[in-house]
Amino acid sequence: MSDVRQHADDIHDQFSDHLDVSVEDVEERLATLVDEYKVPMDEARRSVTNHYLEEAGLERDDLSSGSSEAVNVEDVDEPEEWVDLTAKVIELWDPRSDSVAQVGLLGDPTGTIKFTKWAKSDLPALEEGGVYSLQNVVTDEYQGRYSVKLNSTTIIEERDEDIEVGDDTSVIEGALIDMQSGSGLIKRCPEDDCTRVLQNGRCNEHGEVEGEFDLRIKAVVDDGLDAHEVIFDKDATENLTGLSLEEAKDMAMDALDTTVVADEIAADIVGTYYRIEGPTFGRYVLADDVTELDGPADAEELLIKARSM
Ligand SMILES: [Zn+2]
Repeated sequence: MSDVRQHADDIHDQFSDHLDVSVEDVEERLATLVDEYKVPMDEARRSVTNHYLEEAGLERDDLSSGSSEAVNVEDVDEPEEWVDLTAKVIELWDPRSDSVAQVGLLGDPTGTIKFTKWAKSDLPALEEGGVYSLQNVVTDEYQGRYSVKLNSTTIIEERDEDIEVGDDTSVIEGALIDMQSGSGLIKRCPEDDCTRVLQNGRCNEHGEVEGEFDLRIKAVVDDGLDAHEVIFDKDATENLTGLSLEEAKDMAMDALDTTVVADEIAADIVGTYYRIEGPTFGRYVLADDVTELDGPADAEELLIKARSM
């Protein structure tokens, strides 16, 4: 079943007692918003739901929350799902955009996850250290890193209990055996809270946009047992390579080609041993703390390994 069809089914279920409407009609409305107008799915869903609420003369509270399911943080591994979480607010960060009321990190015994609360959702403020049950939040994914979005259908209840937050930090010691595509000098979508990496000047969500340059490395680090995917953000990349974003831009401009940056970085780091520490998000480890090691520099063995991947 397609994504749109699944969401259409959910919405249809909510209204089946109230309106004579077909799943196909719901699906068509959703598809128009998502495919033609490039509206993000959670907004499209809200908009279509509002349309039917109006048609049925109902308030949102009259509907059952329907499809959302109680999960733990570690269970969040699909985007666009409606879930219920009970979690503690570990940190609040400064929103980078007026459309976001609050952004920060939630945690439960199984791990941590970023949350975003939209300004227009008009929800009560979450406090740092507070424990809340959050019903009807939507999952999202960016580079294997999951987050949840609190929206106007979300129900927030403060809980009078403390919960322990699981530690999901990883430490990897091993050889950096490969650098994946999408590394080096990249362009990101400049839209509020999007930052998706552009493919040929296009954002998956916002279409053609004027991208903003960024540096990042997606690497494979082999600890002798497993291969781990590690992401270095701009700061981690600058620290690792000694190459600044400005220098990388100059280098690409001189060559009239951005791939020279990735080539230069790969030549510098592939085959080197590192100790990498950082949080785990989905299948990725984010490199927070990196130390170069004097590893067994058997370059030939490493190359054989890299080629076989
Ligand atoms: Zn975008």
